[in-house]
Amino acid sequence: MVRSHESVVIIGGGIAGLACARRLHDRGQSFLVITENLGGRVRSSNDGAVNLGAYYVTRDYEHVNMFVERGRRIRRRPILRGDEDGSFSRSDMPLFLHPAQFVRFNRLIRQFRRRYEAFKKVCRVTSQAQAIRADPLLWELYNEPATDFIQRNQIDDVARHYLSPYAQGTAFAPLEKLTAFTMLVGVLPTIVPIFEYTFRFEDLTEGFDDSIVFDSVTRLTRSDGVHHLHTAGDESLTADNVVVATPVGVSAQLLDLGPLKRPINAHMYLLKGSLRSPWAQASVSLFHEKDDTFAIAQQTGGEILFVSASDHPDFTRYFATWEVVEHHYWNPAFHLDGTALLECDQGAGLFLIGDHNVCTLEDSYITGLFAADRILGGQ
Ligand SMILES: Cc1cc2nc3c(=O)[nH]c(=O)nc-3n(C[C@H](O)[C@H](O)[C@H](O)COP(=O)(O)OP(=O)(O)OC[C@H]3O[C@@H](n4cnc5c(N)ncnc54)[C@H](O)[C@@H]3O)c2cc1C
Repeated sequence: MVRSHESVVIIGGGIAGLACARRLHDRGQSFLVITENLGGRVRSSNDGAVNLGAYYVTRDYEHVNMFVERGRRIRRRPILRGDEDGSFSRSDMPLFLHPAQFVRFNRLIRQFRRRYEAFKKVCRVTSQAQAIRADPLLWELYNEPATDFIQRNQIDDVARHYLSPYAQGTAFAPLEKLTAFTMLVGVLPTIVPIFEYTFRFEDLTEGFDDSIVFDSVTRLTRSDGVHHLHTAGDESLTADNVVVATPVGVSAQLLDLGPLKRPINAHMYLLKGSLRSPWAQASVSLFHEKDDTFAIAQQTGGEILFVSASDHPDFTRYFATWEVVEHHYWNPAFHLDGTALLECDQGAGLFLIGDHNVCTLEDSYITGLFAADRILGGQ
């Protein structure tokens, strides 16, 4: 049962909304989370064994890693990468043929990692949008097409053999749709250890389960100095502060946000069966950007995760035998095509959090902390 007036309502119980709730709860601030589900794009298969949404955490995820049980490390060397000519390789030989480019890329990605890590610390006390604007390098990367960045730094061969399949596997998009910032976030796994994980939601929500209701907010308006919310369950309530923590397409229906990044969709298939060669020999396979397959990941339990742009993938190309166990269509998976930069503080006690600017679990989590601290500081 929804109460009639709240000091704080958080719309959305994904990682951003729950991070905000966790911080408010820890500081003794009451709130209500209204959400369609718990976890949002952190979603596992019915048996809990395989992530069908956000797939990995990196070693750099300082906050998120407190709430996950790490699984298998996805190592770089055994990853199979698809090339333009349809061939697949796990050898780093193409990089050794272009040593100067390899050295340049290494310097660039390590410099980016340092700046990005510093940026995430700044985002705890400054809004993400302001933090990006305030850093000349990050601001440039945020607005520069990935393809221009590649040309400017003369790393075309590294991009073709390496960055493109990695971006395809993590951002589900060709380089020409990405900014340099998004591409670099997507290819960080080339230097930062990444792990499969199980999310421990019970730890994240410990102590405030009673403050979560399952419903869908359909309308958000403001009058008489308070926010008015209406839900699909026909509940109405008012709030002094509202934190909108829904996917950005939904947030734009609740708020007037202006231009957004364009959406990118993905189908996640969980299969049983036997893969053909060469994919059978790799724990993870990445694909060329012209392919409509994004990735194949063999699971420790024997199942196979198949990620694709297509609602009818040609499984016969990859599998000798197969059976689809589960299928989830992310429509959208995320919005990351474009340079829109959205502000957290929307005025009058209204906050926008989530992955609208930077699309990772850790960045989403930090936006939740920032909004919570703004609310706590405003009292
Ligand atoms: C297939 C896929 C793979 C990914 N892989 C990775 C990865 O490996 N690593 C990584 O770091 N990130 C990855 N991401 C990105 C990551 O999942 C997101 O950046 C992050 O989960 C966003 O969290 P959020 O809380 O902002 O949004 P969401 O997780 O989308 O949460 C939004 C919440 O709002 C609720 N909601 C929606 N509409 C309403 C409404 N009207 N009323 C009430 N509630 C509503 C939903 O139920 C949901 O709980 C991936 C995403 C996808 C889809």
